[in-house]
Amino acid sequence: MEHASASDFNGFHHWKNPDRQSIGETTLEFLKKLPGPTHIHISGKDPSRCRAVVTLLHGNEPSGLHAIHEMLKRRIEPAVDIHYFIPSVDAAKQAPGFIYRMLPHHKDLNRCFSPPYGESEQDKLAQELLRILVAQAPECVIDIHNTSGSSPPFGVTTFMNERHEALVSLFTHRMIVTDLLLGSLMEISESMMPTVTIECGGAQDPESNLLATAGLNKYTSYENVLTLGHTDMSLEFFHNPIRLELVEGSDIAYGDHCLLDDGVTLLPGIEHFNFGFVSAQTQLGFISGELSNCLQANDPNGEEKLLDYFRTVDGELYPTRRIKLFMVTTNPEIARKDCLFYLVEANASSEVSD
Ligand SMILES: [Zn+2]
Repeated sequence: MEHASASDFNGFHHWKNPDRQSIGETTLEFLKKLPGPTHIHISGKDPSRCRAVVTLLHGNEPSGLHAIHEMLKRRIEPAVDIHYFIPSVDAAKQAPGFIYRMLPHHKDLNRCFSPPYGESEQDKLAQELLRILVAQAPECVIDIHNTSGSSPPFGVTTFMNERHEALVSLFTHRMIVTDLLLGSLMEISESMMPTVTIECGGAQDPESNLLATAGLNKYTSYENVLTLGHTDMSLEFFHNPIRLELVEGSDIAYGDHCLLDDGVTLLPGIEHFNFGFVSAQTQLGFISGELSNCLQANDPNGEEKLLDYFRTVDGELYPTRRIKLFMVTTNPEIARKDCLFYLVEANASSEVSD
C-alpha cells in the first residue's frame, strides 16, 4: 500500500471508488474488508464540489456503515464527490463485531476534536481527520451515530442556522441544539464547515439502518442539501439539554428493585421514555445514600441543577417536574463513562404533533 510511516500511527487508508466485488455482501463483510481507519472517496457528477460523511467514530454504532455499504452496492453516482471517513474499524472488528464503542483503555474518539490535543492514537486520528477535512474543504459534514439505548432518531448541533436545520431534516425532525462542548466532531462547525451529528436510533432498532440509508441517499444525491427547500417538514427543537451523570466514585445498576447498597439503580424500562415525557409521579429508579452524592446534573454553563429536577422519596428516584428525557442508556458502562441521559424542561421544546 502507501509508504509506511516511522511511527505506529498510519492514519486513514485511502480507497477510491471501490468496485462492487470488493465490498462484501453484508455490513460485517464490508467492515472486514477495511484494513483500519478508512477514507473512501466516491466520484460525483460535479467533482468541483464535495461533501463528507463520518461514521463509526464509535465502534458499536453500525447504522452509518450499513448506509454507506448500501450506497456503494447501489452504485448511484452522487451529485458531488463524497468522502466517507470510517475511523474506529479496529474497535468495531472485535468479535462478534460492533460491540466495542472503543477498544479497552482507549480514549473516546468523539471527545478528541478540540484542544488540548493529546498524544494518544485517538487524538492523532482526530487531528488527521481534521487535516483531511481542511484539505478537501467539503461543503458540509454529517457524523452518523446510534444511540446506546432504543430511541427515536434525532440530530444534534452546536450551531443553529438554516444550513444545520437543512442537514438534520434529511434524516429526522428532532433537533437538539446544545452549547455543551465535549470535544465532539460537530464542534468544528463554528470554525470550519456546517457539521451535524445524526443519531439514527438504537443499534438494535431495525428502523435505524433504514433511516440512515434513506437520509444518506438524500445527502449524496441532492443537488443542494444546505437550504430547507428540500423539505416542508417542521423541526422540533430541544435547546441546551442537561446531562445527568454519576458522581465520581458512585456506581449504577439496572433493575426493578434497589441493587446497590450505595449508588443508583435505574428501572430497565427507562429507555422507553426516550423523547417521551416523565412527570413528577414517574419513578425512574432507586437511590441508596444521599442523592447529590450519587448524581450530578450540569447545565451547559456548568451549573449544578440536580435538585431542581430530581428528588427521592423513601429511596425512590423521581423527577421534581415534567421533563423530557433523551439519549437514555441502559448500558452501565456508558452511564459510567458518559452520562445516564439528557433532559430538557417539558416546555422547553417547540412542539410539533408527536
Ligand atoms: Zn456515538
